[in-house]
Amino acid sequence: MEEYALSTAKYERVVLKLSGESLAGDQGFGINPAVVEDIALRVRKVRDYGIDVAIVVGGGNIWRGLSGSAKGMDRAAADYMGMMATVMNALALQDALEKQSVDTRVQTAIEMRQVAEPYIRRKAIRHMEKGRVVIFGAGTGNPYFSTDTTAALRAAEVEADVILMAKKGTDGIYDSDPNKNPNAKKFDTLSYIEILNRGLQVMDTTATSLCMDNKIPLVVFNIDDHENIVRAALGEDIGTTVGGEA
Ligand code: UDP
Repeated sequence: MEEYALSTAKYERVVLKLSGESLAGDQGFGINPAVVEDIALRVRKVRDYGIDVAIVVGGGNIWRGLSGSAKGMDRAAADYMGMMATVMNALALQDALEKQSVDTRVQTAIEMRQVAEPYIRRKAIRHMEKGRVVIFGAGTGNPYFSTDTTAALRAAEVEADVILMAKKGTDGIYDSDPNKNPNAKKFDTLSYIEILNRGLQVMDTTATSLCMDNKIPLVVFNIDDHENIVRAALGEDIGTTVGGEA
């Protein structure tokens, strides 16, 4: 396995956004323990470099709001179910990380006191300062939002240097869908305003504008190779970098 010098670390604190799908493995739904274990191994490596890690996890592998499983349901109810799904993923990640001897705390935006801590910003920061990986569950706690928006919000709140956005099946941002257009061009760097103007499907517009307004850099990278989590956290040139000083 590749090793890196400690001094190569570019970021001090990262928010890693894992979609629910990234925990599902090839079956595309549910939680694949071997995949989660492999991801946890990489998160541990990042932590071992002394980088503070907060994870925002999605829920699309279990339940998706209106766009998926919940057609015809009340929007808010479907969204709350989506937020519950993210908590299941958060607990799976916590379990896998603790098995790798990584100290973790799950904090949820909807109180579940028997299961996890409630989200408290200053506590989350304190946990990271003590070397714990903080996993944020239940999104923002509000329907009509996404876990991408959660990543943007939490990154701003905990003053993360970057959002590392793991994507399945794509190695960055393209000017059109590379699965449909063989001439699609990949961006190495991009600005948020370009994402909005071009209508690129990187994340929803709420998340994009939150990142833009708060000048939070974003790295979009391919999670099909889990080692990319480490590369992205160390600031290697992979995927597409948005905003910041790119
Ligand atoms: N969700 C929500 N508010 C939030 C975050 C998530 O209502 O702040 C719901 C929404 O229904 C969404 C689902 O939770 O469809 C799962 O989150 P998301 O789709 O962002 O997960 P991912 O696509 O990253 O797996």
